Amino acid sequence: MSRMVDALRKRIVGDTREMESRLDRMQADLRDLERALRDVRQEVAKLQAGPPTPSYADAARALATPAPAAAAGPTKPASTAGTARVDEKECIGCATCVDLAPTVFRMAANAKAVVTGQAGPADKIQAAADACPVSCIHVE
Ligand code: SF4
Repeated sequence: MSRMVDALRKRIVGDTREMESRLDRMQADLRDLERALRDVRQEVAKLQAGPPTPSYADAARALATPAPAAAAGPTKPASTAGTARVDEKECIGCATCVDLAPTVFRMAANAKAVVTGQAGPADKIQAAADACPVSCIHVE
């Protein structure tokens, strides 16, 4: 009887170790998948932000037109405009705000959302703020 109990105990211990080992491998795989997903999201955000291809005419216009900051004096930081502000340190680059209010938000080259400087419909700005997964859009 005691031999049978010992055999069962050994088997249970062995099975438990095997399950722990499998769980560790699954957690490692999950971490890898999360990293890959984050990388893909950042790449998508970069692609969505895509640098505009300026034409020669655009470049000439840009050179001929003084930058708004220079013409208007001190302004708010680049990611601030009118009614919204993005805390770029918190932004995870999911581009939800750009989908919801593309005239107000855009993705910068660093895969962070910034405010375009254009005014936008308050309801869309609020919807973007509400949908932001890390609540880094502040409506002002
Ligand atoms: S919704 Fe929030 S986290 Fe996503 S890109 Fe916009 S500001 Fe960043």
